[in-house]
Amino acid sequence: MATAGKVIKCRAAVAWEPNVPLMMEEIEVAPPQEGEIRIKVVATGVCHTDLYHPFEVKDKRGFPTVLGHEGAGVVESVGPGVTDFKPGDKVIPLFLSQCGECKFCKSPNTNLCDCSWSSKYHDIMSDPTTRFTCRGQPILQFMGTSTFSEYTVINQIAVAKIADDAPLDRVCLLSCGISTGYGAAVNTAGVTPGSVCAVFGLGAVGLAAVMGCKNAGASRIFAVDINEKKFEKAKVFGATDFLNPKAYDKPISEVLAELTNGGVDFSLECVGNTEVMRTALESCVKGWGVSVLVGWTDVKDFSAKPIQLISGKTWKGSLFGGFKSKDSVPNLVCNYMNGKIKLDKMSLEQVNDAINLMKTGDCIRCILNISK
Ligand code: NAD
Ligand code: ZN
Repeated sequence: MATAGKVIKCRAAVAWEPNVPLMMEEIEVAPPQEGEIRIKVVATGVCHTDLYHPFEVKDKRGFPTVLGHEGAGVVESVGPGVTDFKPGDKVIPLFLSQCGECKFCKSPNTNLCDCSWSSKYHDIMSDPTTRFTCRGQPILQFMGTSTFSEYTVINQIAVAKIADDAPLDRVCLLSCGISTGYGAAVNTAGVTPGSVCAVFGLGAVGLAAVMGCKNAGASRIFAVDINEKKFEKAKVFGATDFLNPKAYDKPISEVLAELTNGGVDFSLECVGNTEVMRTALESCVKGWGVSVLVGWTDVKDFSAKPIQLISGKTWKGSLFGGFKSKDSVPNLVCNYMNGKIKLDKMSLEQVNDAINLMKTGDCIRCILNISK
């Protein structure tokens, strides 16, 4: 590649500060250093976590940054010491790394690699080790990935090589939303055949959780959302019952308890709201009910009455669906059933439109075509 070893100037959507629209800028992307890979981003999804950072948590220390962590692309060049990747390989950047060396990677019980940005910098949600500059200023790399840019540089421990014929504008969703929701159901909750489940929040993450419950053999899946437009899609993914909490004058956990003779076996919170987290736990049956937190928030503490756990329920959380990222993403790509999700394709210039569509709930996932 003619660009190897040189600084690349390219377009990126920069979030200069919280609560303002992203700005299209020309940025400089330095060549990859030891163990790093420079990737030409081809497509990226817009996940709720991309909105959460600038519009909900608003911590100024995480700015300026390039958002985006649901991308797929092609290797442009590799730094010294990289042997598993070569220019032209199709890849998926991973917001959760898998170094293979740390005690967490070596344990079969978790996917939380200790070398991930999130183990040190989860409060600023960015990796300060950045190869980006813009107008003379370093620009942070959101979640270590920054896929709202034509090029990005990522350590090889956070990149998965995928099949050459994978459609990048579809499989990009496997780098976050779909794997997260699906894995939360099949791995973290451990949904069992014949069980009754409830999924709270029906964005891409929640719909994937519904799909996971169905594939694990759940007999009844309650889809819960305050936006009833989401119910039709949830049905396609396997939901059997639909509840809008706003349509009842009592807590939805009581409604669920009445409909299921005491509560659901498994519940998954895919909203990122601490009140909904509590409700999801309270919706579980005593004795064995399992509730999984998938929605992301650091703004508030959560709470519940101790009796909820004393009565035999389990409250768990899940990052990236419990999947060990580098090992699992290539397999998920192979198993991906194409065309189950409506993909609204847009260009990088329309990134703020995509954010607004997500805020109003008018799309499940917007895919931005970054480059050809
Ligand atoms: P989204 O915004 O597309 O979907 C959220 C859904 O929740 C919407 O349909 C909305 O109408 C619904 N909702 C809002 N308030 C509700 C309420 N009170 N009760 C029921 N439903 C309600 O978001 P998404 O991209 O699907 O992401 C969902 C959550 O998962 C976010 O918090 C995101 O940050 C988080 N997330 C976590 C991980 C992880 O690894 N744990 C990974 C990706 C995303
Ligand atoms: Zn590790």
